[in-house]
Amino acid sequence: MQTLNINHNPLDWRLFTDSSKLSPKAVLLHSGNTLPSIPVGHSMHNKESYENMKILMEAINYDKFTWKICGDLKVIALVLGLKQGFTKYCCFICEWDNRARSLHYSRKDWPARKSLEPGIMTVENQPLVEPSKILLPPMHLKLGVMKNLVKDTNKGKAAFTYLLEKFPRLSEAKRKEGIFIGPQIRDIVKDEYEYFDKLLQGDEKAARDSYKFVVKVFLGNRKAQIYEELVNSLL
Ligand SMILES: [Zn+2]
Repeated sequence: MQTLNINHNPLDWRLFTDSSKLSPKAVLLHSGNTLPSIPVGHSMHNKESYENMKILMEAINYDKFTWKICGDLKVIALVLGLKQGFTKYCCFICEWDNRARSLHYSRKDWPARKSLEPGIMTVENQPLVEPSKILLPPMHLKLGVMKNLVKDTNKGKAAFTYLLEKFPRLSEAKRKEGIFIGPQIRDIVKDEYEYFDKLLQGDEKAARDSYKFVVKVFLGNRKAQIYEELVNSLL
């Protein structure tokens, strides 16, 4: 692996890291997408591990450029030194207790994580990047919002029955938990499903409207110029 030394303004670029099972890679994405992306690191036979991510980050001089970084949650956990797998404290932002299921929909404030120190709260290794540099993956936000929409939908009512009929091949557990994949979400969001709209009542309707809004404006492929304004009105 060669050392990266290109002239650029690190603020204009995001580092995308991915490690599809066998080969960790790093690509620079231009903010605004007017310039093409630049592959900066790729290792063919290294398996996904903290050590290999560390080698990769050192090779691309991450400490010098400190780009904002995006990637899937697995890679983000790796670069932050978090333990892999189903761990109790898996969030790098707060001290959310994964196992306290009964509290998940009642308790709203979880204490912020103050440090990422190895040995404390499922942190295993010294973080390779600052938590403030992490950009959360939009797909996970979308899946999470969808999950909460379905959980909020009153399960006895017509709207929930509609969802069950619409996706008969989803397991009961997945439907109950609101676990949907991209194409199904697109289906629900499509305007032609006004039928679903009519079935929803009161709060359900409000929940779906804001869901649609979130998906279309923030997470769609278009860029919302008035992003900040929209976030404020949504809040
Ligand atoms: Zn959290």
